[in-house]
Amino acid sequence: MTHHTTLAGAIALALALGTAAAEAETCLKVTLTGTKGGPMAVNGLAGAGTLIQYGEKADSCRGIDLQVDAGRATALRHSELGVWPAEIDAIFFTHTHSDHADGFADFMQLRWHYQSDQPKIDVVCSADSVSPRGHTNSCASFVKHIADAYIHSGEIAERHWQRKGSGASAEGPSALANVMTFEPSDEPQVVWSKGDVTVSAIRSTHTAGHASYRIDTPAGSVVVAGDASNDLQEPPRAHSTSDQVEKLAQDADVLVHSSTHPVMGPEAGGGMPKPVFYRQSTVDDIGAMAERAGVKHLMLTHLTPSLGEVERIDGWNIPNAPLTEADFEAAARSGGYGGDLLVGKDLASIQLPAD
Ligand SMILES: [Zn+2]
Repeated sequence: MTHHTTLAGAIALALALGTAAAEAETCLKVTLTGTKGGPMAVNGLAGAGTLIQYGEKADSCRGIDLQVDAGRATALRHSELGVWPAEIDAIFFTHTHSDHADGFADFMQLRWHYQSDQPKIDVVCSADSVSPRGHTNSCASFVKHIADAYIHSGEIAERHWQRKGSGASAEGPSALANVMTFEPSDEPQVVWSKGDVTVSAIRSTHTAGHASYRIDTPAGSVVVAGDASNDLQEPPRAHSTSDQVEKLAQDADVLVHSSTHPVMGPEAGGGMPKPVFYRQSTVDDIGAMAERAGVKHLMLTHLTPSLGEVERIDGWNIPNAPLTEADFEAAARSGGYGGDLLVGKDLASIQLPAD
C-alpha cells in the first residue's frame, strides 16, 4: 500500500514537473554590446555589436546566445555581462568592416585559450562578394586568418606547446570556427536555426555582401539591420532606409539599426563625405520605416555622431555638437515613429516579454 502510494506520488510529481517544464516561461533579451559607429575610438564606447539571448526566464533568458557583429571590446562587454566566449552559439556578421569585426580576433583568442574543448562556434555571413570597384569582401577569408599575427609572432605555437592536451590546436583560433556562408538575396532566407530559434537573412546595401538578420523566437523577434541603407546610394530617392530591411522587419518586436543623425548631411556643412553619409540610414527615415513596419521597440545604435562627441580627427565637424539622446529621439519622432524608443548606450537592453 505504502509502496503504491509512493509510486503514485512519484508519478504525480513527475507529471507535475513535466508540465512545469513544458510551460516554463521563456524570454528574449537584446543587449547592445557596443554602440560606436565607424572606426574612430570614442571614450568609453565599444564597437558595434548586439547580443541576443533566448531561454527560460528563470535563467535570465540564457540558453541560446547569439551575437551579431563584434566591434572593438566585445569580449570586454561580454565579461561585464558574465558571458563566456563558448556560451555564444553563433555569430552573425552584417559585414566585416573593422568597426563591426575587430573584436572578433580577441573573442576567438579567448575561446582558443580557455574553452577550445567546447563545440565550434558557427560563424554566419555572406559568401565572397565583389564590389563594383573590384574589391572582394570575404568573410570566410577574414575568419580563416583571424589569428595570423599571433601565428607569425610565434605565440600560437608556444601556447599550443604549453597547453598540450587542452584541445587548443596548433592551427589556432580559426580552427574553432564553423563558417556558414550564404548568398544574400532580396527575400528572407533561413540561415541558421537551433531549437525554437530561427535566424533569417536578407541582402541590404552598405558594402558589397552586406546582410541584415531577423531572429525569431517564441518570446519575440528582433531584426538587426547593421549599416543597411537604400539600394539607391544617393538622392533623389524615397528614403535612405533599405526596402529589404523594411520587409524583414514587418511586425518585429525589436529593430536594432545603425543610426546617422540628419545633421551630418551635406546641407549642414559638417564635411562628412557624401558617399559615407549616403550609405547609412538617417534617424528620421529609420523612424518612418519602423512605424510603417509596425516595429514595437526601436533601438538606435552605431550612433553617428556618438552622444557627447565634439571633436573628430578626420576633418569633419559635427554641426550643433554635442548631440544628445533628445536630438536622436526628436529625429526618430519627426519621421513619425510612435513606438518605444531607445537611444543606444553600451549595455542597454530590452527584455521580452517585459517584467
Ligand atoms: Zn559601421
